[in-house]
Amino acid sequence: MRSADSSDACPVELDRVVKRYGNRTALDGVSLRVEPGITGLVGPNGAGKSTLVRTVLGLVKLAGGSVRVFGLDPQKAPRQVRQQVGVVPEDESAVPGLTGVGMVRYAARLCGIPAGEALRRAHEVLDWCDAGQERYRPLETFSVGTRQKVAFAAAIVHDPPLIILDEPTNGLDPIERKAMLGRLVTLARDHGKTIFLCTHVLPDVQAICERAIVLAAGRVRLSGSIEELTRPALPMHRVEGTGPLEELARALSAAGIAASLVRTSRGPAVEVATPADGDTPAVLRAVCEHARDVGVGVRSFEPAQRPLEEVFIASLREAEAAQTPEVLHAPA
Ligand code: ADP
Repeated sequence: MRSADSSDACPVELDRVVKRYGNRTALDGVSLRVEPGITGLVGPNGAGKSTLVRTVLGLVKLAGGSVRVFGLDPQKAPRQVRQQVGVVPEDESAVPGLTGVGMVRYAARLCGIPAGEALRRAHEVLDWCDAGQERYRPLETFSVGTRQKVAFAAAIVHDPPLIILDEPTNGLDPIERKAMLGRLVTLARDHGKTIFLCTHVLPDVQAICERAIVLAAGRVRLSGSIEELTRPALPMHRVEGTGPLEELARALSAAGIAASLVRTSRGPAVEVATPADGDTPAVLRAVCEHARDVGVGVRSFEPAQRPLEEVFIASLREAEAAQTPEVLHAPA
């Protein structure tokens, strides 16, 4: 597999982009950069996510601003841009009557790959997506999971450095969803691809993205690394382990270390305030001592994160309340 474009140009750069449909403004002065790695684009329905994707592909006429994809203007060089981008659209883009492998081969041919090579590549990429013998069946007989695998294979068959996905885990069962997310991580980490993931599923974004952009009513409301966005207002560490965690929280509080029991997606945990002077090892020592005393087996001690869902809802509420055009940046 080819690694990412070696040029220094930013994969996607939007500067004050405005898109209107009649008197409806879908993108209202959007500026953003999508860097190599995985970036999540999240926002409520009607936020402008699909319009943004169409803008990157040069499919809409803008009222203002500029777009660059690897330094190219998609309006002026649409073919060159399309060569650099693989898109997994939310809606079905299958050609009726084709088999799975026929569809992926067709996508390869559209990207200018010669016939024999296109078939070989189609099989190679379908193998990588774990599409078994079902690839020989007509597309209309596929389950949602297989359809998504074929759409994904068709998007990456020409080995583009930028991959844009619109709701790629929609309708997938938990195993398929995990496999799909794993493939995205492999493409980004091992092959240097830039992945732009548009989704409603915030835990997916928190699990695999390095950065996130929150779009609402056509404006960027929040952008930054997941680490920055989910950092609690006060420094905290989270202790996971087995045994009476509630007693551990009580013992730590009695010793003057602010601690509380919290419920996380992985079960109960104790959150412990980390001192402003940053003496985390001292807190860890205290946690270990008290854990031993109350019979807790400490499994992990890591910086606490707020759920991205909480950050997302708070940013939308703030934007609504203030009705301000300003972009809120994550704290440095
Ligand atoms: P999202 O993908 O976040 O749901 P969209 O980009 O589809 O948002 O839509 C953003 C806004 O633009 C919405 O108000 C939507 O109704 C409007 N819109 C999108 N496409 C069109 C279109 N082809 N014609 C008119 N309005 C549109």
